[in-house]
Amino acid sequence: MNISGRYYVEKDCIGCTLCAETAGENFKINSAEELFFEHSYVFKQPDTEEQEALCNEAMENCPASAIGNDGDSE
Ligand code: SF4
Repeated sequence: MNISGRYYVEKDCIGCTLCAETAGENFKINSAEELFFEHSYVFKQPDTEEQEALCNEAMENCPASAIGNDGDSE
């Protein structure tokens, strides 16, 4: 489950792990039993410019366009 804040992963995630590899300080892969496949989630919002840049990179490269950033809640 995503932690509250700007970045989030939507249900469209296909569990490719790219975001966890790109921005491992912010995204994790969840293999919870109730899910049929692995799914990533935001476990920590970025708190440095470097983490923010990596989160943006993950968002841009996500093959399922499943990462969002609503930008105005923190
Ligand atoms: S990059 Fe996108 S599809 Fe891949 S694990 Fe992350 S959110 Fe899911």
